[in-house]
Amino acid sequence: MHLVRENLFIGNIGDAAQVLQNDSAEITHILSVLSSASISFFSEWRSGLTIPTKEIKKVFVGGSGGAAASGDHVDDASKSSLSPQKLLYLLEYAGKDLKLVRMAVPIRDMESENLLDYLDACFDFIDQSRKEGSVLVHCFAGVSRSAAIITAYLMRTEQLSQEDALESLRQTCEFVCPNDGFLEQQLKMFEEMGHKVDHSSPVYKRFRLKVLGDCYNRGEKIDSSKLGADPGLPTESSSVMEAPPKEGTNRTAYRCKKCRRVVALQENVVDHIPGEGETSFEWNKRRSGNPFNKSVQTECSSIFVEPLRWMTAVEEGAIEGKLSCAHCEARLGYFNWSGIQCSCGSWITPAFQLHKSRVDISTV
Ligand SMILES: [Zn+2]
Ligand SMILES: [Zn+2]
Repeated sequence: MHLVRENLFIGNIGDAAQVLQNDSAEITHILSVLSSASISFFSEWRSGLTIPTKEIKKVFVGGSGGAAASGDHVDDASKSSLSPQKLLYLLEYAGKDLKLVRMAVPIRDMESENLLDYLDACFDFIDQSRKEGSVLVHCFAGVSRSAAIITAYLMRTEQLSQEDALESLRQTCEFVCPNDGFLEQQLKMFEEMGHKVDHSSPVYKRFRLKVLGDCYNRGEKIDSSKLGADPGLPTESSSVMEAPPKEGTNRTAYRCKKCRRVVALQENVVDHIPGEGETSFEWNKRRSGNPFNKSVQTECSSIFVEPLRWMTAVEEGAIEGKLSCAHCEARLGYFNWSGIQCSCGSWITPAFQLHKSRVDISTV
């Protein structure tokens, strides 16, 4: 177990087991980051090891389960990238005389695993624990998951870049090494979002789309719970109420050209940088005949949005299909889970595309 900051330790499952079995003079709180939240993980790891626990609460994505109260992480399932009803964390008393408070978050050490959506809950627990005592953040080996969470925590509390935070952590624990998906992708996104998980930022929207694409590729059913609220139905678009626009500003909306139904709001748009990526270079070469003139860029003829609940064709499970207006059935665009190339050359994967020629921009 290594001291990282005052009242903050990092360790592996052996360190945690030791604290949970014996009284610890130092540790009062444990943050377990293992593939299963259940304390039985410890007895499966080492037979004969039984740790008494008493559940305080379980918190699920979307806030169901009865225990969620104000202040809990009741994420709007359509905003987070986690599947609705998934366990966000378990909170329990644990160890000898149930003296310790343990929070367990179920995260696997895989590059594609969603770390970002657990960070806020982890930060709150670490902050609270450090006020009341000392916290041990542990995973299995004490190398990847726990290190990624502490790196993010240092980034946020000390306003450090991902590189500086990791370097600082390595001063106290030299072998830490978060996997590349955590380090090079998600912690970089965390930095780009301004050291927070901002569900409305373009960075997060691209991440959410990628996570959804991974779900589809694993064969998971994409039902309406995974799709964004339909901006054409005022009652469903809860985000309108949650985030009222600043005084005097209008919200940009995309409407079906034929029947004027609202089909997307600006906040549903997943931005891309026109012409980004190597494929665009080849594309320009083919189109313009001049491989060195990279400035040749056509204005994008489409917008790409997050999948929304009016896109019923998406729920049918096909890899690609037409997107038709929910009101007049006019064809508005296409979707393809393997990606669509924009007219500017960028590949968007997965893609939910609306042709600009089929929609009007207006305000609501
Ligand atoms: Zn484009
Ligand atoms: Zn229409």
